[in-house]
Amino acid sequence: MSYDVNNIFAKILRGEIPNDTVYEDDYVLAFRDLYPKAPVHILVIPKGEYIDVADFGAHAKEKEIAAFWRAVAVIAEEQGLPAGGFRTIANTGLHGGQEVPHFHVHILGGKALGPMLAKAA
Ligand code: 5GP
Repeated sequence: MSYDVNNIFAKILRGEIPNDTVYEDDYVLAFRDLYPKAPVHILVIPKGEYIDVADFGAHAKEKEIAAFWRAVAVIAEEQGLPAGGFRTIANTGLHGGQEVPHFHVHILGGKALGPMLAKAA
């Protein structure tokens, strides 16, 4: 599978679709999810073209990987989440329910989120 340059997050990175940015550096952009599932729901994406967490882990440069996870920590701190706790999710592929094929981590928090998943059948 090759990277789809017309996915929604690629368009956001090119400035073709507006977004509510909460963090940006040379390697990372983070913005609020358009359909939030929690009081705080932020999407963190690398600026490089990676389809999912496996593609990112296998092919991103170390500085991109470091910048990405540093950004997750900075954003969580800026949003006041570590004290109460929060959740990070990287949906991947068909079974993971990934809708947008540009690697992203969801940061969810601001209330007790309950069990991680309903049990799959
Ligand atoms: P996935 O299911 O791929 O892990 O998550 C994709 C996320 O992108 C969903 O939570 C969805 O609400 C969000 N989303 C879809 N389209 C847009 C958009 O145009 N802007 C923003 N900010 N979020 C979007």
